[in-house]
Amino acid sequence: MTSKNIIFLGAPGAGKGTQAAMLAKELQIPTISTGDILRKEIASATPLGLEVKALVDNGKLVSDELVLRLVEKRLSSEDCARGFILDGFPRNVDQAKDLDALLSKLEKAIGFVIFLDVPHDAILKRLAERKAADGSKRADDGEEVVKDRLRTYEEQTAPLLPYYRSRQLLKEIDGTASMEVVRQKIGEIFS
Ligand code: AMP
Repeated sequence: MTSKNIIFLGAPGAGKGTQAAMLAKELQIPTISTGDILRKEIASATPLGLEVKALVDNGKLVSDELVLRLVEKRLSSEDCARGFILDGFPRNVDQAKDLDALLSKLEKAIGFVIFLDVPHDAILKRLAERKAADGSKRADDGEEVVKDRLRTYEEQTAPLLPYYRSRQLLKEIDGTASMEVVRQKIGEIFS
């Protein structure tokens, strides 16, 4: 059976967090969101949180070494033995190579990489609507910072698509459909 070791890829605002949480519940495996981990550290004002706050608030990536340490700690835990979902990591090709090395050390392998495809104009519209509707509390959700995050995504994260496609791991899903339709399409991968 293909392993339930899953990566979610997609631009910020593509719906990765929502879909990852639903799939994790269904498959009964944990989600590891490096963004959530970093935001918690910032909220608790830990030394690590203070170190990364300015970068995260401005939509810049924190160092590869730092996120790798966080991911290594999480993936080595017992609750990841039956599978896991990575949301927000890897974020660039170096991190993907780090992940390959880490997984082979842990005698694990990636089963699928799910790419939620949403064009940038749709993302900007969605984020603006969300902000208007519920007043997003994220420091990095301002329009200029979102544009920076999308640029960072294009430059650094989008190259992961050919990286995983060439290894036949990539499942491409139209992320512009409704949340429920996207959920069903993701479910079909595992049925
Ligand atoms: P996210 O919630 O995944 O959009 O991440 C929010 C922010 O956390 C990003 O804009 C980065 O500042 C930081 N971050 C999250 N994951 C990573 C990562 N894998 N590498 C570097 N920075 C990250």
